[in-house]
Amino acid sequence: MTGDNLGFLVGLLALLIVMLALLLHAQIAQRRALSRWLVKPESEIPDGRGPWREVFSLLQRREKEVSRDMARLVRSLDHFRLATQALPDGVILLDDQTHIDWMNAAAIQHFGLDLQRDAGTLVGQLIRQGEFHAYLSAFREHRGESEPLQLNLSAGGTARVVSVLLIPFADAGILLLSRDVTELARTEVIRRDFVANVSHELRTPLTVISGFLEQFASDHPPAGEAARKHLALMADQADRMNRLVADLLTLSRLENDGQPPKSEVIDVPGLLVAILAEARVLSAGKHNLVASGIEAVMLQGGREEIRSAFGNLVSNAVRYTAEGGTIAVSWKSEPRGLVFTVTDTGIGIPKEHLPRLTERFYRVDKGRSAATGGTGLGLAIVKHVLLRHQARLEVMSELGRGSTFAAVFPASRAAAPP
Ligand code: ADP
Repeated sequence: MTGDNLGFLVGLLALLIVMLALLLHAQIAQRRALSRWLVKPESEIPDGRGPWREVFSLLQRREKEVSRDMARLVRSLDHFRLATQALPDGVILLDDQTHIDWMNAAAIQHFGLDLQRDAGTLVGQLIRQGEFHAYLSAFREHRGESEPLQLNLSAGGTARVVSVLLIPFADAGILLLSRDVTELARTEVIRRDFVANVSHELRTPLTVISGFLEQFASDHPPAGEAARKHLALMADQADRMNRLVADLLTLSRLENDGQPPKSEVIDVPGLLVAILAEARVLSAGKHNLVASGIEAVMLQGGREEIRSAFGNLVSNAVRYTAEGGTIAVSWKSEPRGLVFTVTDTGIGIPKEHLPRLTERFYRVDKGRSAATGGTGLGLAIVKHVLLRHQARLEVMSELGRGSTFAAVFPASRAAAPP
């Protein structure tokens, strides 16, 4: 190889190296620009050169899309907040630990809160009622459906009755809804007072009528068959009205009693012996009444209330079971709590009626209930008594085959024998 050729080759190599270095430098500059943008994405996306142009223009397009989506999201969020603000009901968003995240104007008014000051605070530190704390703890334990709780509040000098409800949302968040039910509570008090007063006022005239009817029937027994029938009918109906008034008064007392039930130690097995004896009188030998599985467990509660509730369930079983049927009662400590059950082989109840059974005067079959001497208030009394004892009523029934009514008490109501 000649010296000229060698010189040419060296020159070419040097040129190549310089071009490569320039290219490398350009690549490094573009890569640096990209890194700078990634660290600070709010800055301008750099202009790209060569193959980088496509990368940067793709990034630019993506960035625009993300900005558009963000703007849409912010708009939706604003809309949602505005809509929630306009709600007449209060809404408080709580995190999994029950710190306040956000609340609307109605909630602020109901509880006398301040979004700036109270955001991030535990809701239990701001709503201080003991019943609310118990409600919140029970909800956090189960995170299931809960019944609304009524609270008497006085925020900003205004006394209010507010119904609150906790609902699980998202993964672990909690939604606290509140509704001003002051007016509703006021009319409810008027209704209760009215029923209590009417029942009370009816008692005396009814006692007089029943008494004189009885006396009249024994002093002057009517001669004719028709008159005897009419007198018996009058005595029957007066009896029925007496039972109705007595049940109405019991229900009023249970509803109006803000105090928890008495805390007596109830010997349930002993109580059931007495209830079954009464049921035998009602059955008049037409049914097979059995006590199956009675455990020696004592219950803490109001003896008279429990007697009335259990007695109602057993008397219903007798009244809605045809002659020859069986009625079995049991009292057991089970994993789900202390359970009293009455099972009958009676007429049963169609499924669609089950949710409404405990409403006042709700009857599956009006004719049948009147014929069996029912007042239509028995299960309403049972429901109230159980509610007062933190117990629930479970009903299983099959039409034509029979029913099982179970009263389930929390295990904490078990008591040691006195
Ligand atoms: P009533 O005085 O009419 O029996 P309750 O409140 O005790 O009122 O019961 C409500 C309705 O539930 C009854 O009218 C009856 O239709 C139905 N019911 C209650 N217990 C039973 C039962 N063991 N078997 C069938 N139906 C029942």
